[in-house]
Amino acid sequence: MHVQLPPKAIAVTVAAGLLFTVSVPTQPTQPVQAQGQAPFLTTPYYGHKAINPFFDHEYPYYGTNQIFTRYDGSRWTNMSGCTLGVNCYDGHNGYDFAMWYESVLAAADGTVTTSGWYVPNCRDFRRERGYGLRAEINHGNGYITRYGHLSAVMTQGQHVTAGQAIGTSGNTGYSSGEHLHFDVRDTSGNQFDPFGWRGSGADPNSPASWCMWKSGEWANLCGGISQPVPELIDGQVQIIDDLDYNFSKSCAAGYPCPDWYAANIGHNSHMWWTYVNGTTPDYWAKWTPNLLRPGLYEIFVNVPCNNATTWQALYNVATPSGWGSAYVDQYGLCDRWVSIGSYPFRQGYNPDYYVWVTDATGEESQHCSGTCRLGIDAIKLVRRGRSTYVPITMRP
Ligand SMILES: [Zn+2]
Repeated sequence: MHVQLPPKAIAVTVAAGLLFTVSVPTQPTQPVQAQGQAPFLTTPYYGHKAINPFFDHEYPYYGTNQIFTRYDGSRWTNMSGCTLGVNCYDGHNGYDFAMWYESVLAAADGTVTTSGWYVPNCRDFRRERGYGLRAEINHGNGYITRYGHLSAVMTQGQHVTAGQAIGTSGNTGYSSGEHLHFDVRDTSGNQFDPFGWRGSGADPNSPASWCMWKSGEWANLCGGISQPVPELIDGQVQIIDDLDYNFSKSCAAGYPCPDWYAANIGHNSHMWWTYVNGTTPDYWAKWTPNLLRPGLYEIFVNVPCNNATTWQALYNVATPSGWGSAYVDQYGLCDRWVSIGSYPFRQGYNPDYYVWVTDATGEESQHCSGTCRLGIDAIKLVRRGRSTYVPITMRP
């Protein structure tokens, strides 16, 4: 349900000369109170990212009424007059952060309950493809956060802590440029504006929301002063190339694995590739770290421009805490390091703990059989601190 607010429109000319209208909402017919929840969200990226567009408080389910209402009550009634034409995406149900192919962080502790393509095996640009490669995290407090248009993402079932990397932003699904779509729902499916409502009248969002961001978080525009989340590189970065001693590859058929092909492209001008093949692993490759310190390591995989065309390479990570895994849209990536999330490791070399990828991607035959290629190259491990990682948020 949406509380409809007949606006008393007032034309306002701002300093930039842009003409838009700001409403003075009527008094609420049913005053609504915050539900007594504590703020729980942390910034889902490193550094500072711009927001464009915001959440539309009127019909935020991609419905349209030709009106865009921002968290602070600013209201645009002429869609063609919006700044850059995109600030007021009528019906937008979340926040878009301007991000290139950059790490996406869990906004709070929780469990990844949904992951993968919004429409299975579909990555093309069409409205019904929606969020593309995406993840949803259930935070156990009645709320779920969603991360859309990703290029790599942890699979479902994994527990994450606030600030832990869960994947990489991108441009998949119904998206016309690289960004992270972030939105918040409750477990009943109601959309919430995590910035709450600071307008002078009733919150047109229903049920009413409050500011969900923790104090001091950069993404928190609810008030106060915040600083960007630093990208913590704590002590060690290790690259394992596909020609190093702690890389190996094999296959079910045994040596010499004729369908592993080499190509002189990618990191250190060398990569391996093989054809994607259904759901049974026939060919696999493995990187086994040899680390100076234990901790939580963010793992990046290098995706070359050529011979890497699978839509869902499945990287598995064997850790002291159990298995983790992530999908990577190799098709949409060219000569790029992408995060597949952060995982705990012990120090030293241990053959039980490694990163493993196979030709079994599970992609459907109509688009991939015999043609899609799994391309593998170097991986990189970046220590993000101890295994119970808490992002450092500095305040002045
Ligand atoms: Zn969006």
